[in-house]
Amino acid sequence: MNCVEIRRAADALIDGELSGAGKLRVEEHLKYCAQCRQWVDSARRTRDTVRSRVVKPEPPGRLETRIRRALDAGRPPAQGPRG
Ligand SMILES: [Zn+2]
Repeated sequence: MNCVEIRRAADALIDGELSGAGKLRVEEHLKYCAQCRQWVDSARRTRDTVRSRVVKPEPPGRLETRIRRALDAGRPPAQGPRG
């Protein structure tokens, strides 16, 4: 496996989609290839940043309030003139 292949596999490794022989091969490569180690390190940090933003964009309570307000704003009066 060359560095390009390792980085492709490492991408899956970071996502937790790699196991067994593939994972071992990447880890073996990282032991002697400092460049790939750095690459994996920064890729992992980027992934973590993205993930933490996706997982907790906002406290749930506040989000619910905002959704309710948005719904109320767009809702016509409950008892409007009819007929
Ligand atoms: Zn490498």
